[in-house]
Amino acid sequence: MSNISKCKTLIEIKAFSKPLIANLHKLGISNIQSLLLHLPLRYIDETRITVVRDLRLGDAVQCEGEIVHAEVTYKPRKALIARLEDASGQLTLRFLHFYPSQIAALAVGKKLRVYGEIRHGFFGYEMVHPHCKSVGKSTQVAETLTPVYPTTAGLTQTNICKAIALAIQQNELIETLPADVYKGLNLPAFKVSIHALHSPPPEANLIALENKTTPAWRRLAFDELLAQQLSMRKHYAHRRSIDAPSMASSKILVAKLLRHLPFKLTKSQQKVIAEISHDLTQPHPMQRLLQGDVGSGKTIVACLAALQAIEHGWQVALMAPTEILAEQHFKKFEMWLKPLNLNIAWLTGSQSKKERERALTDIATGQAQLAVGTHTLFQEAVNFHKLGLAIIDEQHRFGVQQRLALRKKGEPEPHQLMMSATPIPRTLSMSYFADLDVSVIDELPPGRTPIVTKLISEERRDEILQRVREACLAGQQAYWVCPLIEESEALQLQTANDTFAYMQATFPELKIGLVHGRMRPAEKQAVMAQFSVGNIQLLVATTVIEVGVDVPNASLMVIEHAERSGLSQLHQLRGRVGRGAAKSTCILLYQNKLSEAARARLKVIFENNDGFLIAQADLHLRGPGEFLGTRQSGVPMLKIADLERDTDLLETAKNMADSLIKECPQAVEAHLERWMSHAGELVKV
Ligand code: ADP
Ligand code: MG
Repeated sequence: MSNISKCKTLIEIKAFSKPLIANLHKLGISNIQSLLLHLPLRYIDETRITVVRDLRLGDAVQCEGEIVHAEVTYKPRKALIARLEDASGQLTLRFLHFYPSQIAALAVGKKLRVYGEIRHGFFGYEMVHPHCKSVGKSTQVAETLTPVYPTTAGLTQTNICKAIALAIQQNELIETLPADVYKGLNLPAFKVSIHALHSPPPEANLIALENKTTPAWRRLAFDELLAQQLSMRKHYAHRRSIDAPSMASSKILVAKLLRHLPFKLTKSQQKVIAEISHDLTQPHPMQRLLQGDVGSGKTIVACLAALQAIEHGWQVALMAPTEILAEQHFKKFEMWLKPLNLNIAWLTGSQSKKERERALTDIATGQAQLAVGTHTLFQEAVNFHKLGLAIIDEQHRFGVQQRLALRKKGEPEPHQLMMSATPIPRTLSMSYFADLDVSVIDELPPGRTPIVTKLISEERRDEILQRVREACLAGQQAYWVCPLIEESEALQLQTANDTFAYMQATFPELKIGLVHGRMRPAEKQAVMAQFSVGNIQLLVATTVIEVGVDVPNASLMVIEHAERSGLSQLHQLRGRVGRGAAKSTCILLYQNKLSEAARARLKVIFENNDGFLIAQADLHLRGPGEFLGTRQSGVPMLKIADLERDTDLLETAKNMADSLIKECPQAVEAHLERWMSHAGELVKV
C-alpha cells in the first residue's frame, strides 16, 4: 500500500486532446482518479451473436446478417424499415428518425451486426433503433461486456471508452485500504474491481452488474461510503479542536422559567435538554440537530438552551425562515423571558428604520440577551456583543452558507443548535449527517388527539365548504390552504385572493381572514394575531403557514390540490392542526387523474401520522438527492452507493472509520485524496 502520488491531472496524459479534456470537465472529471471512477450506467452484451431463430421477446441481444430488404415508408408515419436475414430467419429493423447516411448503411446487401431489444412488430420480431455496425470477414465479437457511460454532448461512447482505457493504463489503481479490511468483508481489491466494472468478462452476471450488487460494485460503494465517513469524522474531530465558550448548566434562570411554565416537560424533552445542556458546558462548539415531529415542543427546548447561555453572559440568536414564524417566536420568548427581566431584540426585513436601528444597537451593546429574526440576523450590519449560541429553527429551510454566516457572528465560535421537524431517516443521519450530533424528541406532549386525515376528490369541494362553515359556526377554527403553484407566485396569490373573495361572499356569517407571502409583514402579523385570539374563524392561506405556526385552537384544515405538494410539506401543513385537545381533521382535496407519484404520496400521508415514517417513505420515493438537496446538506452526493441497497456497507464503514483514522492515517489520506477529488469540493458546516 502506498500513497496516491498526487492525483495525475488530465493534461498529463499526452494522448488527451484539449476538446476531450474540456468535455471530461463538463462531466466533473478533472483528474485520472475521477476518470477511473466514472463508472458505467449499464452494459450491453456484444460478446455473442444470437441467431434469429433463438430470439425471445424482451431480450437485448446482438444479431448478425445481411440486409435483404429496405424501404422508407410514410404510413402510419415516416419510418425506415429494413429486414436482416441470417441462416435461421429474418428480423425487422425499424427507425423512426434517421439520416440519409443511415439509409445508405442499411442498403440491401450490406452485412450488419445489430444490437437492440426484441419487440413485437407487425412482421414478427423487430428491433427499434438498433445500434448497427457493419461487419467484414474478420470482425470479432467483443471480448468483454460493453460499458455504457454517462456522457455529455460532444463526447461519444467510443471516445469516453478510449479515455478510460488510457486512464487504466496509467497505473493509478493503487490500493488505499489495508488488505485485511477489504478481504475481511469479502470484497475484491480496488484494481480488480475497477477492471471488473470497466470491462466485465462475458460470463459476468448482467443483472447483478446493473443492480450494482456484484462484488466489484460493492467494493466501490464501500470505498465511497468509507470516504464519506472518514471526511465526516475528521471534520467532527476538527471541530472538537476549536474553542467555544463553555457554559456551566443553569442554576437560576431555567428553574425560574420552569416554575412558571403552564405545562410539564415530556420525558423526551427532558432527555434532549440534558444532551444540549451537556454540549454547552464543553469548550468546543456544539453542532447538534434537534429533531422532533411537528408539535413535539422544540421551542421550549430552544428557550431552555438559550437561558443556559444567557445566564453566563452570552447572547443568543434565534433564526427562523419566515417572518410569521419569527414573529411568533418573538412573542413566545417575550412571554417566557420578560418575567425573568431579559430583553429580546427583534429583527426582520421589514421593520421601520428606527425600529431596526434600535434592535441593532441593543444587539451590539449586549442590551438584548436574545435576538430573534429571519435571515436578516446574519447580515453584515448585525454585530453581536457576545454571541454564544446560534439557534436555527427549521434548519432545512436554510442553506449551508447561511448557517455558516450566522455562526461567523461569534468569537470564539458560538455553539449551534439546529432544529428540524423534517426528520432525517436513520440511513441519512448515519451518512450525510454523520458529523452532527443528533437529539430526537420522540413523543408528543400529552393530551393531543391524533389528526384524522381524509382524502377527498375536488369534485366534492362544495360539500367540504359547507362542512368548514358548520365547524366554524360550532366554535372551531379552520385553515383553508390554497394550492401551491410552482410556476407562478403571482398565480398563487391570485388564487388565494379569489378564494378569499369567494368565501367572504358565500359565508357572510363567518369571520374570514387571508394571509399570503406578499402581504406586508405588519399586515400578516395582524391577521395571524387575530386568528390566534379567535377573532378570525376561517383563515385562507397560502403555504406561508407551512412552518412553525402554532394556533392550538385551530382544528380543521383543508388543503387544496394536495396532489401538488411534497410529502414533507403536507406533513408540515397538517401539523398546524392537532395542537390542542380538540379532535382535529385534515382534508386533502385532490384533482382526479392523479399521476402515479402523486398517488403514492397521498397514500403515504393518508396512512401515516408519524413524521419519521413519512420521511422514510419520502426518501424512498425521491432518493437522497432530491430529499436533501446539496444546498441543504453541503455534502457531496453519493454517486455509487445507495443507502437503501448498501445499508450493510454503510454500517461497516461507520463502525470502521474512527479506528482507521487512528491506526492507518496514511491509508486514510490516500483514500480521501482519491474519493474527495471525485466528489468535488466538500463544504461542510
Ligand atoms: P414544534 O416542535 O413543532 O416547534 P412547538 O414548540 O411549537 O412545536 O410546540 C407545540 C405546542 O405544544 C406549543 O403550543 C407548546 O407551547 C406546546 N408544548 C410544548 N411542550 C409541551 C409539553 N411538554 N406539554 C404540553 N404542551 C407543550
Ligand atoms: Mg417549531
